[in-house]
Amino acid sequence: MADPKGFLTTEREGAQSRPVEERVRDWNEVYVPGSLLPIVSEQAGRCMDCGIPFCHNGCPLGNLIPEWNDYAYRDDWSAASERLHATNNFPEFTGRLCPAPCESACVLGISQEPVTIKNVEVSIIDKAWACGLVTPQPPERLSGKTVAVIGSGPSGLAAAQQLTRAGHTVVVYERADRLGGLLRYGIPEFKMEKRHINRRIEQMRAEGTKFRTGVEIGRDLDAAKLRKRHDAVVIAAGSTTARELPAPGRELNGIHQAMEYLPLSNKVQEGDYVTPPISAEGKHVVVIGGGDTGADCVGTAHRQGAASVTQLEIMPKPGEERAPHQPWPTFPMLYKVTSAHEEGGERVYSVNTTRFEGDEDGNVQWLHLVEVEMVEGKLTQKPGTERKIPAQLVTLAMGFTGIDRENGLVEQFGLDLDERGNVARDAEFATNVPGVYVAGDAGRGQSLIVWAIAEGRSAAKGVDRHLAGGASALPAPIRPTDRALTV
Ligand SMILES: Cc1cc2nc3c(=O)[nH]c(=O)nc-3n(C[C@H](O)[C@H](O)[C@H](O)COP(=O)(O)OP(=O)(O)OC[C@H]3O[C@@H](n4cnc5c(N)ncnc54)[C@H](O)[C@@H]3O)c2cc1C
Ligand code: SF4
Repeated sequence: MADPKGFLTTEREGAQSRPVEERVRDWNEVYVPGSLLPIVSEQAGRCMDCGIPFCHNGCPLGNLIPEWNDYAYRDDWSAASERLHATNNFPEFTGRLCPAPCESACVLGISQEPVTIKNVEVSIIDKAWACGLVTPQPPERLSGKTVAVIGSGPSGLAAAQQLTRAGHTVVVYERADRLGGLLRYGIPEFKMEKRHINRRIEQMRAEGTKFRTGVEIGRDLDAAKLRKRHDAVVIAAGSTTARELPAPGRELNGIHQAMEYLPLSNKVQEGDYVTPPISAEGKHVVVIGGGDTGADCVGTAHRQGAASVTQLEIMPKPGEERAPHQPWPTFPMLYKVTSAHEEGGERVYSVNTTRFEGDEDGNVQWLHLVEVEMVEGKLTQKPGTERKIPAQLVTLAMGFTGIDRENGLVEQFGLDLDERGNVARDAEFATNVPGVYVAGDAGRGQSLIVWAIAEGRSAAKGVDRHLAGGASALPAPIRPTDRALTV
């Protein structure tokens, strides 16, 4: 146990954010660099090393949280990093981006503020990189088998790293020009600087994983031919079909899907553009959708110099305390103030967009909305509450409805989909097509990075068993149906 009295003597303290007026003028991560390190040992010392560590269950990866808290408390960064990597390929991604369902399940959270698990995680991995503790781990022997991974998001990268380390020759095919999936082109630099992805890709290359960018399976390369070229395939293509808003005026200029808007801004940071082809500068911006994607649009619009930013959400404002039906240790739906929300803008709840209004040149100028309320289980418009708000740039961040159905991949493989439009799979993450597996949002539906990594690791075990004829030493944190205590 880290510090037997730590939870009694130490208050919870998190990373320090840079002042809003400073950070909205750049794209770097919002936190003060290095602000965690001086406090991390003390914070790790708050862990009670519970007999039944509910945090393990709260974390989809089953991270060994009390073990690495103990090492962090003792300043043993090498052991802490080893324990962290035992269950998580990319703790620098989750340590920055995970909503930390583990903290909702922390036993200390019943009576006090929970342990800052996510902050300890990111401190360990940042320290490990800084100390040269993260090195390539190439396999000792090659199996002679080859595996294609389709997609280079967190699930594809995790599956590829596990399978490469197990001795298989892995080729990752990515349709975008750069690797990383939503980590690269969805999530803005201010949430996670892309150098973290680049460093991991270098490690993976050194281990032997091969990458092919600019190749869309289905369109550029027939999926059935790909299957014949490889002994197994992992589909990690994400859930990239964006939900549409079929409101009158949707066709006006200036209304874009979030995943049209955010990648262009990320490409400015990559040096592809000087100014983004879609910019919020000087405009009244409306973001439709109250989740993570919407928050990323809000933070991006602030940095681009928007005149105003309004975020609309159809559901009511969540509570600030756990609702009775979401008791500890479940992951509750709570009102969240993200870094983007700290930076300004307005959030409006319980409203629905009825139509858009444009000028004579076809550019959107106004968004008409109406308040809604739940009546007999259905969201119903409240008469007399219609109004319009200025909207010169609108981003749609209303979620995703499944794997891309336009590029032919699903048909060429002959994949079965489930009732939600995701690729159907069995307990080993195998699809209906022999030797073809699925991981991440492509199989689970729109989810989280931590689940994507957990699925990539688990699907890799399924593939390894298939290739080895039954046995695999790879770990499998989850089954496809796992929801456990978490989101
Ligand atoms: C804007 C945004 C912000 C988010 N923020 C967070 C957050 O803060 N925290 C969090 O936990 N989760 C967040 N999420 C969710 C998280 O990013 C996803 O759950 C996660 O990235 C899913 O990983 P994946 O590997 O399954 O798919 P993706 O990351 O979507 O990667 C799929 C990859 O497959 C490629 N691809 C698709 N089809 C093909 C094909 N036919 N051939 C070749 N390549 C193909 C795509 O180009 C893409 O690179 C966010 C999502 C969005 C959209
Ligand atoms: S990956 Fe997420 S849930 Fe797991 S320990 Fe880290 S912050 Fe917690």
